[in-house]
Amino acid sequence: MINPSDTYAGVYFHIPFCKKACHYCNFHFSTSLQHKNELVEALLKEIDITRGKSTRLITSVYFGGGTPSLMLRKELRAIMEATRSSFKLMPDAEISFEVNPDDMNDATVPFWKQQGINRLSIGIQSFRDEDLQWMNRAHTADQALTAIALAKDAGFTNYSIDLIYGIPGLTDDAWRANLEQAITLGVPHISAYALTVEPRTALDAMINKGKKEPVDAEQQARQFILLMEILEQAGYEHYEISNFSLPGMHSRHNSSYWQGIPYFGFGPSAHSYDGISRYWNRSQNMEYIESLQSGIIPYEKEDLTDTQRLNEYIMTSLRTMEGIHLDRVQQEWGEENAGLLVKNSEKYMSRGMVVNNGNRIVLTREGKLFADGIAADLFQV
Ligand code: SF4
Repeated sequence: MINPSDTYAGVYFHIPFCKKACHYCNFHFSTSLQHKNELVEALLKEIDITRGKSTRLITSVYFGGGTPSLMLRKELRAIMEATRSSFKLMPDAEISFEVNPDDMNDATVPFWKQQGINRLSIGIQSFRDEDLQWMNRAHTADQALTAIALAKDAGFTNYSIDLIYGIPGLTDDAWRANLEQAITLGVPHISAYALTVEPRTALDAMINKGKKEPVDAEQQARQFILLMEILEQAGYEHYEISNFSLPGMHSRHNSSYWQGIPYFGFGPSAHSYDGISRYWNRSQNMEYIESLQSGIIPYEKEDLTDTQRLNEYIMTSLRTMEGIHLDRVQQEWGEENAGLLVKNSEKYMSRGMVVNNGNRIVLTREGKLFADGIAADLFQV
């Protein structure tokens, strides 16, 4: 059997700059653009150091951040050229680009397309100004609508929008209206996340000081159920806990992560995985720039044990519509582990939270509300 991880890989670029800090965000970014050009130079150097280290075919490229749409034309052009000359990019590779609505206009969007970007991931989050202001987003509801029109006008048929639910003040009716707006516009892919309060974020500090209302777990659960019902009824496939798409529009890049396919990450805080070890660049822009100026990638590494790999597979696959493939567990981790997995999942089967679907353990709609807890309970020790 050919192991896809021997053949294919993805590439991820982390562009760690944003115009404005969203209150809830815990990604690595800086709101000072002062060293953006030097950082892109360092990123090109990192690609150059890495080139030729793998013969894997690249099926997907993903620009994330931060805000990749803040890159200047010459910066994006240089990274795309380096990508093409350094990797074996498949002719039909999915090339995704995260963009914020306020960076989209008649000039930028066609330029991205011309550079070979064939999928946009638009950070809309909500079609309501009050939510956008609450989160400290840089765009308005009008810009969110214009963003989708611009993507369509430029000929992007493959694009995704991010939406957030469980925001204090977002009633169930308002959440329903947000989803219906996306459906009416024919958005082919929606990533929807519950607002989470991460430690050490501005939102966390504001809630602790009583300046913002805390999030309500019951509201989040209700809105997650609404999300599943409304999008499934509109013909979207719920192919991963936070991801819905019209048929044939799954994100190839993210699906590769969930299948354990290797990826190369470039830029500060970017992670890489080669099927055995996980690597991550340190999350400090100046350290990254200075280290690469001396030709050294500032990274750390962890070799995964078989059990860690199995547990990662359980966590990521259980969140997908495919579920945990027991034959894969049996082949890679042995019959005993596959048997244990079935035995440990029995209590969730009896509660209607998972089903054993012809050699696959899959979450039911009820189980999806507790996906991470069930996965953690199925971990092998
Ligand atoms: S634009 Fe994205 S990365 Fe930047 S602060 Fe907001 S959520 Fe975080």
